[in-house]
Amino acid sequence: MTDAVIVGAGPNGLVAANMLADAGWSVTVLEAADHPGGAVRSAEVTAPGYCNDLFSAFYPLAAASPFMAALDLERWGLRWAHAPLVVTHPIGDGRVVTLSRDVDVTAASLDAFAPGDGEAWRRLVAQFERLRDDLVAALFRPFPPVTPTLRLLRELGAGDALRFARFATMPLRRWAEEEFNGVGAASLFAGNALHTDLGPDSSGAAVFGWLLCMLGQTDGFPVPVGGAQSLTDALVARLQTAGGRLVCGQAVREVVVHGGRAVAVRTVDGTEYAAERAVLAAVDAPQLFNAMVAPEHLPPRLLDDLRKFQWDNATVKVDWALGGPVPWADDRSGQSGTVHLGGDVDALTRYTGQLAVGAVPDRPYIVFGQMTTADPSRSPAGTEAAWGYTHVPQTVRSDAGSDGLTGTWDEREVQVVVDRLEAQVERFAPGFRARIAGRYVNGPLGLQQADRSLFRGALNGGSAAIHQQLIWRPVPGLGRAETPIERLYLASGSAHPGGGVHGGPGGIAARTALRDAGVLGPLRRRLVRAANRAVYR
Ligand SMILES: Cc1cc2nc3c(=O)[nH]c(=O)nc-3n(C[C@H](O)[C@H](O)[C@H](O)COP(=O)(O)OP(=O)(O)OC[C@H]3O[C@@H](n4cnc5c(N)ncnc54)[C@H](O)[C@@H]3O)c2cc1C
Repeated sequence: MTDAVIVGAGPNGLVAANMLADAGWSVTVLEAADHPGGAVRSAEVTAPGYCNDLFSAFYPLAAASPFMAALDLERWGLRWAHAPLVVTHPIGDGRVVTLSRDVDVTAASLDAFAPGDGEAWRRLVAQFERLRDDLVAALFRPFPPVTPTLRLLRELGAGDALRFARFATMPLRRWAEEEFNGVGAASLFAGNALHTDLGPDSSGAAVFGWLLCMLGQTDGFPVPVGGAQSLTDALVARLQTAGGRLVCGQAVREVVVHGGRAVAVRTVDGTEYAAERAVLAAVDAPQLFNAMVAPEHLPPRLLDDLRKFQWDNATVKVDWALGGPVPWADDRSGQSGTVHLGGDVDALTRYTGQLAVGAVPDRPYIVFGQMTTADPSRSPAGTEAAWGYTHVPQTVRSDAGSDGLTGTWDEREVQVVVDRLEAQVERFAPGFRARIAGRYVNGPLGLQQADRSLFRGALNGGSAAIHQQLIWRPVPGLGRAETPIERLYLASGSAHPGGGVHGGPGGIAARTALRDAGVLGPLRRRLVRAANRAVYR
């Protein structure tokens, strides 16, 4: 018997486990895969001497996360590295827009598209720096984050708070038109917003593009020295030092519920792990509520809401071993850790429009990572360990190209998307294909097989659309870590504040479990029961 059982050893499960172990709880983490880390892993899969990140690679959100900072992972060997430039976005006509940690460089890049856009950028950065601590505090609290919101209101004043709330609902294209004049700024923000499933014209996309750009400006897009695995290794080493137990190769099949309380979990081989105080499910919400918990323990309205749960797009991911640097048509792309490929903001609308109608895009948008440029330890000197992904629809209705893709995602279909992806890189870096010395590919089914929380490779534990955020994430009534079952908490990227490697949902769930076990626990549970009655009537 341990105090807490945590299901899933991704970043959220591991952050939660560390926090509970720090509080003196005995903790067991059960992980289905043979390795911990979830979507934070690396391995030598392309060619000898190349370390490739199998899923995530850049960690501005981890750098900004108060939960990660509190764990002091540097003491467990984590070191960060940065590329000379953060992001470059070739817009398709020979020009590129660049984000650098040096604000003068970013501003000059934007001014080259439209004089004055550099000054507009500086104003945004100054505002972000003023609001940053309260914004981050608000994001990393259970909903509603009362204290940081009051502080934000005081900082902004009522009028600007209203304007900020309007901004938070806006499509990116419209917001960029209001704030900037050049296509450089709009394309840079749109490329960043597309780290979610939100295109330039989706409500709420502006705030995501803005947040990643502002973090890129102030913190960069850091990568762990030695690969994404170093972040996981530090979390695991810290947990084990604190007495936590990690068991890999143990897929959980069922959360055992007695008298409305989670009391244990049962794995696929029938082993039962009892939990004295809490079960934290750091796995996707549909798996937890549709498969692990028997329906008789859940309100029918919750199950009905879950039928409306929206996954983010499916993904095709490629790792490359390159025999030399990427032969970019422009120099700045070669100095950037991340390069956004796909063209200007209009081209990105075309791509997201294809995804929206269920068509496999013919000219993909790619998040392209140059890992050796960011961290020279990733591959032999003079070479590049490169990383890239693009999205395909969750449900394929047609192929925008001429290959008749149907969404079976067999070897041929995945290869067609890889060919399109490499053709897109080649467009901005003629001669790219000739540098490929090794390739490792995962389509939607391969990504899900490697990490069963990545439904067809969906990166973010569910859509980041505004109707599935905050008090609606993952469904109405679950905007906090508590679930209708006492002592069962949702702790994955499906929960607020969502996908990305920052440990936010895990940290919030751990903090909630600790509070529920404290003296005010009975009162808190009564309040949650009352809220549940209101939502699930
Ligand atoms: C290709 C790709 C690129 C990405 N790039 C970035 C990036 O650059 N930066 C960034 O911040 N984010 C990125 N992300 C998103 C980020 O990796 C995820 O949002 C994050 O890993 C979510 O953390 P998590 O702990 O909630 O879930 P996961 O990391 O998915 O971990 C869930 C864990 O639970 C385990 N599990 C699932 N079901 C069970 C079960 N039944 N029993 C036991 N264990 C189970 C899984 O095996 C897995 O280990 C990327 C994701 C992908 C796939």
